[in-house]
Amino acid sequence: MPKIEAKPGIMDIDLYVGGKAHLDGVSNVIKLSSNENPFGPSPAAQEAVKRCVHDLHRYPSSDHIELRTALAEVHGLKADNIICGAGSDEIITFLCQAYGGPGAEIVYTEHGFAMYRICALASGATPVEVRERDRITDVDAILEGCTEHTKLVFIANPNNPTGTMIGMAEIERLAEGIPEQALLVLDGAYAEYVEGYDGGAKLVEMRDNVVMTRTFSKLYGLGGLRIGWGYAPRDVIDVLNRVRGPFNVSNTALAAAEASVRDTAYAEKCRNENSRLRAWLSEALAEHGVPCDTSTANFVLARFGNPDEAKACDAYLQKQGLIVRQVAGYKLPNCLRITVGDEPACRQVAHAVGQFKAGAR
Ligand SMILES: *Cc1c(COP(=O)(O)O)cnc(C)c1O
Repeated sequence: MPKIEAKPGIMDIDLYVGGKAHLDGVSNVIKLSSNENPFGPSPAAQEAVKRCVHDLHRYPSSDHIELRTALAEVHGLKADNIICGAGSDEIITFLCQAYGGPGAEIVYTEHGFAMYRICALASGATPVEVRERDRITDVDAILEGCTEHTKLVFIANPNNPTGTMIGMAEIERLAEGIPEQALLVLDGAYAEYVEGYDGGAKLVEMRDNVVMTRTFSKLYGLGGLRIGWGYAPRDVIDVLNRVRGPFNVSNTALAAAEASVRDTAYAEKCRNENSRLRAWLSEALAEHGVPCDTSTANFVLARFGNPDEAKACDAYLQKQGLIVRQVAGYKLPNCLRITVGDEPACRQVAHAVGQFKAGAR
């Protein structure tokens, strides 16, 4: 054993467990465990990636101006207030690196996204977890969890893995109520799935203590390329750019993301299909005696009677070649998170859950 030891906090990090992608001995698995877009990326993004193969020896842009301009045009934002990262996970990492560290407290909720705790600990900060109310972000609980040491407050809206979200008035109350030395981070990984919701972009523009993060991994179907972005006050962007590597995003990812964000018709189609199939799936599961909270994202959180039943159902689904996500690590041991797939996938998973509830094992 070498004498060197990791910094305090590092060994408290539990390794992130991603959604399974394969099942031993089963070909043709249906993967509903990572909230990926079942329709894949926009054809325009695929074409953009093909064009990149000739220039792989070139370093990418380091200011990402073309993608930031496209995002600004399409979403009606200011390009100077955008930062791009290798997935929105990297923006979360930048925030924790820049504002966390020993002595800082980073607040997130009971069933909040795993990266908040991981990045907080990696920075040397103290993670502070507060309760939710029936699997919904509770603004009062967050405000009670804040102290003079709080630097960052993370909420995902809609949240993963619950699928629930809180309204703009509640978000504004949160932004207004957090301590003056803290930033509120609105993780909008699923914002595109919510009709008429800007992820909090306008609130970012109105205030100096709110940051929004977004990703191309979910609605835009580019999880494999690793690209996301953040929207923040100029001072915050200036801070984050100092910890960002100059070539943190590949030219392939930049080109695909730009093509995707400009293909608004494809995004719209994916959003509509998701809404339709999510409603169908939630209802089908409810008819089989498996309720879900009202989801605003591209997955549902199916609630079983107890942890054993959830585990047994997961095992049965795997036998049918269906991979969903156990969320015991998110303190939801009686639940399974099921990504809204395409129509055949939704029908198969609902049918299999029905068979399980009827006694099949
Ligand atoms: C998927 C997800 C992300 C980030 O994904 P990236 O692929 O890193 O952009 C961030 N937050 C939540 C809540 C997510 O579910």
